[in-house]
Amino acid sequence: MAEGKNAVITGSTSGIGLDIARTLAKNGANIVINGFGEKQVIDKIVEELQGYGVQAAHHPANMLRSNEIKEMIQFTIETFGSVDILINNAGIQHVSPIEDFPDQTWENIIAINLSAAFYTMKEAMPSMKKSNWGRIINIASVHGLVASVGKTGYCAAKHGLVGLTKVVALETAEAEITCNAICPGFVLTPLIEQQIENIAKKENISITESQHRLLADKQPAKQFVKTKDLGELVLFLCSDAGRLMTGASLTMDGGWTAQ
Ligand code: NAD
Repeated sequence: MAEGKNAVITGSTSGIGLDIARTLAKNGANIVINGFGEKQVIDKIVEELQGYGVQAAHHPANMLRSNEIKEMIQFTIETFGSVDILINNAGIQHVSPIEDFPDQTWENIIAINLSAAFYTMKEAMPSMKKSNWGRIINIASVHGLVASVGKTGYCAAKHGLVGLTKVVALETAEAEITCNAICPGFVLTPLIEQQIENIAKKENISITESQHRLLADKQPAKQFVKTKDLGELVLFLCSDAGRLMTGASLTMDGGWTAQ
């Protein structure tokens, strides 16, 4: 479905982005991964992706820096010839009441979770328009649609990302380019493991109990969304059948936002 397409996935050395990279590679896309991590671990991921018979490389752009983001997109075009699939996935979060929320943490969350997607899309658009084909998928969150206490930065950035997605969808509506947001509920990745550990410490409960509380509070299915299921949703959006699905905010949240 993604055969012969060239994909960039930001924040793909871990969690959701990594499984999206795997799914796209298994389905024939060349991949540029991005994100932090130890060199040996990243080299292993690149090797694994190449093992699916596609080209793969890592670009270390820091999503806090617009010049590095532009370099990553240009690197993809120079290496593979075009950017066809762009997944804006890199993200961080922080939980605290607004009066204690550190200024720099706010700035970083907005930069990585929102502004980085503006810069990648802006830089990739000429390539997509030239080939008259593109699939942009912004990994937002249920927090792009609804709010939770303590998540000012995260909710503001993710709501912004959903809005940004809609505008780009309208601007590309007449081309073979789509732009959608995926809004997952809780997925068990390092990002959420941190939150689970913090709750466990604060409440003096076990990690398992903390997981149960988190899910019981918000996610009616009472189980975590799987990263590989999100990969399959991305794959559908990249398929021909997804060609008129654009500007959508697709939830995979075990019923969270139905409440
Ligand atoms: P994760 O922590 O496992 O992965 C985050 C990735 O982003 C890593 O590869 C990390 O190296 C990279 N990254 C962080 N800061 C970066 C920077 N400045 N520049 C470049 N890369 C950077 O997190 P995850 O849970 O897989 O999250 C992926 C996306 O999914 C995020 O946007 C997150 O907000 C969103 N999301 C996650 C959940 C969840 O429950 N885990 C739910 C909804 C949405």
